[in-house]
Amino acid sequence: MPAQILDGKAIAAKVRAEVATGVAEFRAAFGRPPGLDVILVGDDPASQVYVRNKEKAATEVGMRGRVHRLAATASEAEVRASIEGLNADPEVDGFLVQLPLPKGLPETALLDAVSPSKDVDGLHPVNAGLLALGRAKLASATPRGVMRLLAETGIDLVGKRAVIVGRSNIVGKPLAQLLLGAHATVTIGHSRTRDLAAVCRDADVLIAAVGRPALVRGDWVKPGAVVIDVGTTRNEAGKLAGDVAFEEARERASFITPVPGGVGPMTIACLLENTLIAARDRMAAEKRRH
Ligand code: NAP
Repeated sequence: MPAQILDGKAIAAKVRAEVATGVAEFRAAFGRPPGLDVILVGDDPASQVYVRNKEKAATEVGMRGRVHRLAATASEAEVRASIEGLNADPEVDGFLVQLPLPKGLPETALLDAVSPSKDVDGLHPVNAGLLALGRAKLASATPRGVMRLLAETGIDLVGKRAVIVGRSNIVGKPLAQLLLGAHATVTIGHSRTRDLAAVCRDADVLIAAVGRPALVRGDWVKPGAVVIDVGTTRNEAGKLAGDVAFEEARERASFITPVPGGVGPMTIACLLENTLIAARDRMAAEKRRH
């Protein structure tokens, strides 16, 4: 029997509704909405679309969404000044620097300048460290979205074999920590992994986060496995492709996410959730100070 499709759009709508309720409560308690800001440097067309979508999504749940646009020629000092301005702004609860930054800007140094308490992308070393210690406050939105999709399958992750293909700081590594936290047995594959197909065939939960269309073939999927496809590659016609050969994998998996309409909508919904968490934490910390 073909796999059940995990509908990221529908599940993301549920998450957004939960966030909207939290936002209304926050407004009632503090007299202002939580605020999500985005710094966009340059005019990369894909980044422009992502940033617009984040701003719109924030507004739709009742948050204040705002974009700060800097020219592609902006200096490190200018980007740093923008980050420091948002760190200090009491109306800003969470913000992110849209990646990739134009070549020549020191990405790591600039991301490290984001205040950990407002780092809704979970990329600051403090947040990555807390996540590794099992004490995460703000974990990267895409991995959180994947965890929510897995939760919606109703499958108990305890003791399951999870294989993640991809070891980036924004997807693969934080997702491995979240899965460990859920007591799965976790393996991370990458470009140097020997016999990746065999590693994947062992997975009860198989997650692809690479950016290579149809890398994961149907016969890499263990019958009954849950398959989550994080990959998004745009072809010349502008169409999005995932990392998994969907039709083949669907014949063997128990659950599978489509691309588009799987992980993508979850990422934005979980980014909003992170902003609400950051806003609540900041107000609680302020209350403790006074
Ligand atoms: P990334 O930083 O480029 O990392 C890609 C990972 O894939 C690396 O660890 C790399 O291995 C590995 N890899 C590359 N070729 C491989 C191969 N042939 N076999 C096995 N592993 C291979 O990418 P990312 O930022 O994690 O993103 C991954 C994909 O997810 C992209 O398509 C991206 O657009 C998508 N994405 C989607 C969302 C969403 O919301 N839907 C969010 C984030 C990312 P090495 O480390 O050895 O180089």
